[in-house]
Parts: sequence; structure tokens; C-alpha cells
Amino acid sequence: MYSKEQQLKSKRIKKKSKNFSEKTKQEIFERDDWRCVRCESYYIESVPHHIIYKSQGGTGEATNGATVCRDCHTLAHSRKDVRKWFEGFREQLLRR
Ligand SMILES: [Zn+2]
Ligand SMILES: [Zn+2]
Repeated sequence: MYSKEQQLKSKRIKKKSKNFSEKTKQEIFERDDWRCVRCESYYIESVPHHIIYKSQGGTGEATNGATVCRDCHTLAHSRKDVRKWFEGFREQLLRR
């Protein structure tokens, strides 16, 4: 049996990619119908937005990704209320 500490340690060592894999990207785009989740524009960025930033421990899982257009993406990174909006979007995904 592993102790809890050992488990945590091995988790930390096992480096999980925080970037979205090609497969996850497809999954996110398809889930979001190839449209920006916030304004429904079809002019989407080629890479989904990380709802929880990588620098804050966000992962490359589909539930941390959102299809975004350039405008909403810029706002997500510059405005706190828009960032919060995306966090709310993520919570809905997690509840599904
Ligand atoms: Zn948008
Ligand atoms: Zn982003």
C-alpha cells in the first residue's frame, strides 16, 4: 500500500500535459458545435481557451477548454467578469 504522501508525490512526478491534445481539441470543438461558447460566432480560435489558466493549475482536459472567438478570447484574458463567465461555463460542464 502506498501512503498518501507517496501517492501525492507520484502524482506530481507524472507530468500531465496541460496543453490540449489534438483529440481533446476535436472533442471540445464538437461539444461546442464549432462556435464561440460566449457569443456563438463561427470565427473561432484554432486552440480552445484554458478556462483555468495553465499557470493556475488548469489542465488539458476537455472540461477545462472552451471554444472561443478572438474577441471573447481577448476579453477572457483581460476582463475579470468575462473570465468569471467562463468559469461558470466550466462549472456547468462539470455538472453534466
Ligand atoms: Zn465570442
Ligand atoms: Zn485563453
